[in-house]
Amino acid sequence: MPKDKVAVVTGASRGIGLSIAKALAAQGARIVAVDIDQEATEKVVAQFKADGTEAIAVKANVTLAEDVEQIITAAMDAFGRVDILVNNAGITRDGLLLRMKDQDWDAVLSVNLKGAFLCSRAASKVMSKQRFGRIVNIASVVGQMGNAGQANYCASKAGLIGLTKSNARELARRNVTVNAVAPGFIATEMTEILPEKTKQELAAQIPLGSLGTAEDVANAVVFLASEKAGYVTGQVLGVNGGMYM
Ligand code: NAP
Repeated sequence: MPKDKVAVVTGASRGIGLSIAKALAAQGARIVAVDIDQEATEKVVAQFKADGTEAIAVKANVTLAEDVEQIITAAMDAFGRVDILVNNAGITRDGLLLRMKDQDWDAVLSVNLKGAFLCSRAASKVMSKQRFGRIVNIASVVGQMGNAGQANYCASKAGLIGLTKSNARELARRNVTVNAVAPGFIATEMTEILPEKTKQELAAQIPLGSLGTAEDVANAVVFLASEKAGYVTGQVLGVNGGMYM
């Protein structure tokens, strides 16, 4: 990836988003780290700068159009372009369908799907003018295969795949590619605390025999965000150890 690329990563202060930001920085990208948690994002950016990566922190709630506009303004003011957008910010509010509260449905759809729509709309204006852009949406294997207790989350991630394909068709002529990465079970802070037996049961459902890592997801994003993926658009790249084919 050429050194001057500017990458906006949402939900960049921890977990998979942080791994993605680090992996893009390792390829020479300048980082616009976006998160709702200002303090955590500023810490992450301070570390990037200490490591020699140009980076800015933007506190934003991706569900609010005015916050999202401010992300792109901050990126343009600091770096003058936006080459890569990774829509990674996401939440869960799990519950069985019969008991799922309206606000849990709305919250998940709002962050996971509307957030990606707002960020894509704002970034694609700049990318279209540049005649270059890479948008990568972080979906989930459960958006492809469903999961009991996650109607809101699965619907949001399936919706994100539809958004990916539609935006890919609209933006292709402007040399802007839009793809999704669909992670399977990824080892995070959340899964670290599970009992060993539960971890083994999860791993037993995966042909490759183990949970994935945030770096596995980041590697797929780096490829889709690179110049080398220029003829790949509208695709969903599963990073799931073979649990869904
Ligand atoms: P995570 O650790 O919870 O990180 C998500 C980040 O997004 C947090 O820093 C969070 O900030 C931020 N965020 C939440 N709502 C936001 C909003 N409205 N505006 C801006 N930032 C917001 O999650 P993760 O496990 O790394 O997951 C990252 C992505 O991968 C998500 O889209 C998730 O659905 C997807 N994914 C994860 C897995 C997995 O196994 N972990 C599997 C498949 C897909 P706060 O915490 O401060 O709210």
